Order: sequence, then structure tokens, then C-alpha cells
Amino acid sequence: MKVAVVGGGVVGLTTTLLLQRELRNAEMTVLASNFDDTVSHVAAGIFRVGASYSGPTEQITRQWIKDSYEYYDNIRKSEEASHAGVTNISGYIFANSSLSTVKSHWIEDLVPIYRRATEEELQLVGGDWKYGSYFSTLLTQCSLYLPWAKRQLQANGVTLRRRKLHSLNELADEFDLVMNCTGFGARELCNDKRMVSLRGQVIKVKAPWLKTFFYGELDTYVIPGFHGVVTLGGSRSFDSENTNLCPYESAAIRQRCNALVPSLKNAEIVRQEVGLRPHRESNVRVEVDRIRDDRSNEATVVHNYGHGGYGVCTAPGTAMYALRLAMDTHRSSIAKL
Ligand SMILES: Cc1cc2nc3c(=O)[nH]c(=O)nc-3n(C[C@H](O)[C@H](O)[C@H](O)COP(=O)(O)OP(=O)(O)OC[C@H]3O[C@@H](n4cnc5c(N)ncnc54)[C@H](O)[C@@H]3O)c2cc1C
Repeated sequence: MKVAVVGGGVVGLTTTLLLQRELRNAEMTVLASNFDDTVSHVAAGIFRVGASYSGPTEQITRQWIKDSYEYYDNIRKSEEASHAGVTNISGYIFANSSLSTVKSHWIEDLVPIYRRATEEELQLVGGDWKYGSYFSTLLTQCSLYLPWAKRQLQANGVTLRRRKLHSLNELADEFDLVMNCTGFGARELCNDKRMVSLRGQVIKVKAPWLKTFFYGELDTYVIPGFHGVVTLGGSRSFDSENTNLCPYESAAIRQRCNALVPSLKNAEIVRQEVGLRPHRESNVRVEVDRIRDDRSNEATVVHNYGHGGYGVCTAPGTAMYALRLAMDTHRSSIAKL
């Protein structure tokens, strides 16, 4: 059986890792127009799922999130943790507008600690905060996780090939099963009008003294990662596809983060980045479909895209679900392997 995974970001590579554990004898290829400069590389990678995140039903969405947390937590507990860029992290979210802003109905019952911040804790950072929560969660840094995933895949005989597709139908004659993990690329590839870009900009600074994350309002966040690099954010521009750095946005991010955590004032900039979050209106798409070329070759495709601002944390759960859909559809061919 020949399998292609299209997409070399966190969704594509996680899907391939899980697939090759299940289909040990299948011939697997990852195809991507880009492996080194994806949206996944821009993310801080914190496991915090926003209220807007949605799968097809509440129950399935909860399962995706739970499966994802367990997947990363197993890596965290293993000797691979630092190579894979997975760690635990804790911190605060503060707000003035409403209590619901500092709550999280998706992860409150999942993570080890999620509680209201005390009066003293509300004074820990700059700002006059009315509401706050403290929680402990996980972080997956894609600059480490993606190269780690690629090493695992290559060691197990998976081929990684750079190729830009103009249509998924191009793969119908070569592969039996195609997993479509193309993120924002799916808008063109699948002519999916529900895909919208949520542009985000971040600044990475050197601040090794900072070990706790902090969220404020207006998309302000300070998230420590590996090797003393801290992500300062952010922004969320609906339907903007401009990938150039905006100097006004950089200045505003720096100002908001310095006001929240004053010790960051002189932290040296490592780099600045822009990414287009692959948001899909209504829900993330994990569905079975068929592709067909002009010589009537046909193959099964399982779509797995549209994770918006939560693709790092939820990739394993949607990958497991996509894999089950693929297995159900291909049960007969898999049985022959
Ligand atoms: C500023 C910012 C901060 C973020 N912070 C977080 C966070 O803290 N936690 C979190 O969980 N998420 C976060 N996200 C969201 C997260 O980055 C995305 O949800 C996730 O990276 C999407 O992964 P993906 O694999 O679907 O897409 P991508 O990483 O974009 O990968 C898509 C892949 O498909 C390939 N591709 C696309 N079209 C084609 C084509 N036609 N032919 C061949 N290949 C193609 C691309 O080359 C690429 O390899 C953040 C995003 C941004 C922008």
C-alpha cells in the first residue's frame, strides 16, 4: 500500500508519525512545498485551546484535545522530551473584561492545575487586573519537534519530498491513500472558501530568566521556550495574508509585553516572525473524500486541516481521528498487508 501525506508542518509530520506506527509495511512519502519555513515554526506551541476551536461535535473535539494532551505528555515523560522540544510550563492569564476570558472550557479539566489567581497573584505583573487564572500545561516547540519528527520518520524509511501540488488529483495514480495536511494551502488545493487567514506576528527575545508564561488582554502574551528564548505576542488579523513584518505591530507588541513583564524591557531580539493561522470557519476539517485523475485512477483522501491558532496543541488528536477514518475506509487493503 502506498501512502502520501501532503504537508510538512506539525499536522503533516504528526499524522505521518502516527500512521507509520500503525501501517508498518506501507510505503510512505511526505510531500510538501516547504519543510523549513511553515506556520508551525512561528508558533510558541503552548497547549491552550481557545473557545473558538471546534471539531464536528463537542464530544469529538474533547476527544481530540484529550488525545493530543496525552500524546505530548507521553513524550514529555520520556527520554526524548528535550530532543522533541516538549516540556511542561505554568503561568497566568489576566483580564479585565470578563471572568470567562480567563477560563477555558476545553482544558480546565484536563491539565494538572487550573485555578483562580489569588489577590496577590493579580499584582505579580504590570497592569491593574481584575480577573486571573493560574494553570499548568505543556509546550511543544516546533523548531525542535519538527526536526525530531523528521529524524524519526527517516529512520523508519519514510521518504520526505519537496513538491508543490496544484491539485490532490495529481496523486491518484501513484498512491492508494492520501492524507491532506496542507493547512492554509488547502484553501487553494481544495477550493475551500471556509479557510481564512488569521495573520499573527511575534517577536522572539533572549530572556533566560523568565520561566513562567503570562497572558494579558489584546492578544498580549509572553511565553518562554527552550534555550532561554521567549515568544512575545501578538496579533490576530482576520483575512490578512500579508507576510511582511509590520513595524507598527512590532512596536505595539514590544510595548504591551514590556508593560506586562517589565523585566523584558532590554531583552535582545533574536528574530521576528509572521504566520498565517489556517483558520476554518465552523470547524477543523477531518473528513474522508475521493480523488480521481483524468485517466480514472482513484484514491482515498483524508483531509486534516484548518486548525487555526491551535494546530500545534491539537495536531495529534486530529491525526488519530484521521487515521481511524483512513483505517475504516481501507480496512480491506490494510488486512492484506
Ligand atoms: C503567531 C502564531 C502563534 C501561534 N501559537 C500557537 C500556539 O501557541 N499553540 C498552538 O497550538 N498553535 C499556535 N499557532 C497555530 C499553529 O501554528 C497552526 O495551527 C499550525 O502550525 C498549523 O499547522 P499545519 O501543519 O496545518 O500548517 P503549516 O505549518 O502551515 O504546514 C502546512 C504544510 O503544507 C504544505 N503545503 C501547503 N500547500 C501545499 C501544496 N499545494 N503542495 C504541497 N505542500 C503544500 C506547506 O508547505 C507546509 O509544509 C500559532 C500561529 C501563529 C501564526
